[in-house]
Amino acid sequence: MSVCEILSVGTEILLGDILNTNSKYLSTELAKLGISVLRHTTVGDNHDRLAAALQTALSRSDIVIATGGLGPTADDITRDVCCEVMGFELELDEKIADGIRKYFASKGYDMPESNLRQAYVPVGGTVFENNHGTAPGLGLKKDGKCVVILPGPPYEMAPMYKESVVPYLAEYSDGAIVSHTVRTMGIGESAMAEMCADLLEKENPTVAPYAKKGEALLRVTAKAENEDEAEKLLLPVIDEIKSRLGGYVYGIDSENIEQRVVELLKENGLKIATAESCTAGYIPKRITDIAGASEVFEFGAITYSNEMKNKVLGVKTETLEKHGAVSEQTAREMAEGIRRVTGADIGISVTGIAGPGSDGTDKPVGLCFIALDAEDKKMCEKIETGKNDREYNRYVNASRALNLARIYIEEKIR
Ligand code: ATP
Repeated sequence: MSVCEILSVGTEILLGDILNTNSKYLSTELAKLGISVLRHTTVGDNHDRLAAALQTALSRSDIVIATGGLGPTADDITRDVCCEVMGFELELDEKIADGIRKYFASKGYDMPESNLRQAYVPVGGTVFENNHGTAPGLGLKKDGKCVVILPGPPYEMAPMYKESVVPYLAEYSDGAIVSHTVRTMGIGESAMAEMCADLLEKENPTVAPYAKKGEALLRVTAKAENEDEAEKLLLPVIDEIKSRLGGYVYGIDSENIEQRVVELLKENGLKIATAESCTAGYIPKRITDIAGASEVFEFGAITYSNEMKNKVLGVKTETLEKHGAVSEQTAREMAEGIRRVTGADIGISVTGIAGPGSDGTDKPVGLCFIALDAEDKKMCEKIETGKNDREYNRYVNASRALNLARIYIEEKIR
């Protein structure tokens, strides 16, 4: 059986300012994996004492899980010390840096440069996404030893443990740990969690909700003697989730929405055409990221100005004048227009306000209309992301338009 030590980092724990609930949580959870916790150690934010504590822990245990001290300030030294002791170099990860900048922008705060410290990751290490804060967690494996570094705040640490660390520790468990992710779109994380509230209380499999760029996900993890047994435990729970969440579920595991849409179009011999305003080419880009997209996609129009919406797609001038470019009526006429022009089976459209500024009306940033036009069905959805984040809004609106196509085809073939 693998053995583990928990290393809590933070002078405030030593001073008695906070209670060390992270160690309690981790000990309980690790036991479920069949990993024995040998010791809890707490050290202050001090380089030498932390390095010594980690070296000692590693000399007698397979796994060390450190929590706290991952923040942006100079006394947050856990990442640096663990990498130093384990012999990993740190380098700036531009994607994480960008995510941190956007996190601050979405909250309307200026980002102190020191926050970029959190974007330094170990070369050859594993990065655990933080879906509830900015500091990513880290995993270091070398010479049979494993160090996991998690943020201090329990509401960041616990979901990260469930989403990322459980699968990361699979090889140390005395059984098999298998996870699947149910991906949904069109429903918020809390509404989804409410519909599955009793399942979230389950012990094996565990069910953990999280949100990611306009999607709500549920990670379902089972532990059993072997993989087959774990899959057997997972199957009924995933089926139950699917039946409760119905059409919101678009896939299991690594599929993204564009993959699912291209698959459905191919299987049913359908072609799609796109008309976009605020997403400006995002949808064709994502469709054509999927190999074999040429079978289902031929044409996408970016009609950014009102004039082009009218000239290319035939959106009526009176519609634009009366309802504005960002309106249900315009979205519907755009979808209808692109289908008429191209002869595709499905036309989808997007028109919205990505931000940071509005469109000169009192319509809010983040408002968007997506529409679908087919011979047997016309659909339109209003989306309000509530975020002033141009990139996020464009990505999510493109996802939702693709999702509309997915819903249409799934209903058609049912
Ligand atoms: P931040 O980015 O918020 O600074 P961090 O990873 O650097 O996060 P710390 O600064 O060590 O974490 O702690 C932040 C807060 O998280 C603490 O004030 C405390 O409320 C909570 N916390 C930290 N460690 C623990 C623990 N072991 N048990 C319970 N709560 C903890």
